[in-house]
This record gives sequence, structure tokens and C-alpha cells, in this order.
Amino acid sequence: MSDKARVLYDAAGKAVRCVGAVVDITPRREFLAQLEQRVAERTESLQETTQQLNDFCYSVAHDLKAPLRSQIGFANMLMEDFAAALGDEGREYVRCIEQSAERQAALVRDLLAHVSVSRIDLPLQPVSLATAIQQARADLASLEKSSQASVEILPADIKVQANPASLHLVLSNLLSNALKFVAPATQPKIMVWIEPINLYVRVWIEDNGIGIAPEHMDRIFGIFQRLHARERYPGTGMGLAIVKRAAERMGGRVGVESELGKGSRFWVDLKACSTK
Ligand code: ADP
Repeated sequence: MSDKARVLYDAAGKAVRCVGAVVDITPRREFLAQLEQRVAERTESLQETTQQLNDFCYSVAHDLKAPLRSQIGFANMLMEDFAAALGDEGREYVRCIEQSAERQAALVRDLLAHVSVSRIDLPLQPVSLATAIQQARADLASLEKSSQASVEILPADIKVQANPASLHLVLSNLLSNALKFVAPATQPKIMVWIEPINLYVRVWIEDNGIGIAPEHMDRIFGIFQRLHARERYPGTGMGLAIVKRAAERMGGRVGVESELGKGSRFWVDLKACSTK
């Protein structure tokens, strides 16, 4: 039943009457229940389809890995055992084959990462941010060394609710971009710090790189969106799309503040965790 009433008052403000109606809303309730049931069924079927698509994409990407490995392996063997016979032109062709295969391997790797953060089942657990940042940094140790970067990580012993593998993808993609997108002959300077904001923890990653023009700041989070030629800055254009998808799937958000030519500051909000 739905019961609505209004009180009528006299000039002195005294309640004198109550006017209202009692309506039987059983049919409305039944209709709503049916609607909810239908939405639940459709959501389940959509989730199933998404999962099937993800599984398909995963197995295609996975199966592409083996032939790529063999292409790279045979190209290496050609260079090692037949370098002289190939001549300058032949060696150049083999180098092109190697480069294309390596680019494709990077694409396959990023596709697999994108599928992994799109999984329906992405369980969250308390994760130490300090450890996650250290692990992401360790993965990039050779790039950090070869670019002679200075990386400063301000200490903070904070835990967040995250999926460890997805958080690793977020941090390693943001850190590798910070190391990569610097002007020629510039030493990368990166600073990472943490800022608690209400129920979230914000991780900041600041660089002294080439920066991003305001009109491109949204676009770069889309899949295959790149602002530079691959020859200048290598990449697949999937890194930030993975970061965005992973952050959102963990209940967080991602964004950037930047000025062209003056560096960028990417941030990720992750759900705070009460247990330290
Ligand atoms: P990729 O690194 O493979 O090019 P991303 O999705 O990681 O792809 O980044 C998309 C684009 O955003 C990059 O090609 C680059 O133009 C820009 N970008 C990302 N990170 C930075 C950064 N730290 N500084 C300047 N530009 C950046």
C-alpha cells in the first residue's frame, strides 16, 4: 500500500483535517520485481558474452606468442650464422624482420595485459603501495639505468585495496612512460609520492618530460592513441588504456596534470585500506 496525506490548517495554524489516499500498489511492485529480474538476467548474459570475448582475445593473443618467438629466434640465427652471406642489404632485411616481430610481440603483450585487467573476476586485496612501487621499479631497472634517471620515491607505509597484478601494470606503465617521454639528452627526473584523500589514496608520478598539450590530455587514455612517431618514442599506444581500465576496475580513477615542454604529473586514486 502507498499512503499519502496532507494536513490542512486553519488561520491560527491549528491542524483541522487530514486529506489523503491509500493506494494499492501491488501491481506496480510486481512490475518492478519483473523488471529487476529481467535486468539481472540481461546483465548475466552480457557478462557471459564479455567473458567469452575476453577468453577468445586471450587465447588468440597467447597463441600468437609462439610463432613470434620462432620468427625472432630464426632471424637471430640468420644473423649469427649467415651474416657474411647475407651482405649489407640482406642483414638490413633481417633487422627489419626482427624489429617488426618485436613490435608485434609488444602488441601481443599489451593486448594480454588489457584482457587481464578486463576480466570480470578481478579480486581485490590489501596491497602495500611501497612494495608495489618497488616491484614496478625493479621491472624497469635496466631502462632506469640506461637512461641515467633519477627516481625519488617518497616513503609512505600505506595499504590499498587492489588487485596485485593490475596494480603492477598501472605502476609499471606510468613509470616507464615517465622514463621514456623525455626530450633528447635530458636526464629523466621522476618523483613518486602518496596523498591520502578521504576514502582513497592518490599515487602521484611526476616527470620532467616533454609534457602534454591540454587538448590531448583526455585522448591519450584511449586505446592506440599516441602523440608521437614510433621511431621517436617506441610504444604500442595501449599503456595508458591499460592503466585507466585497471584503475577503474579496482574502483579507482586516473588523471594527469601537464604542461607542454615542462613535464607531467599522472595520478591514480586507489581505494584506501583500513588495515595498515
Ligand atoms: P605508448 O607509451 O605505448 O605510446 P601510452 O598509452 O602509454 O602509449 O601513452 C599514450 C601517449 O600519451 C604516448 O604515446 C605519449 O604521446 C603520451 N604520454 C604518455 N605518458 C606521457 C608522459 N609521461 N609524458 C608525455 N607524454 C606522455
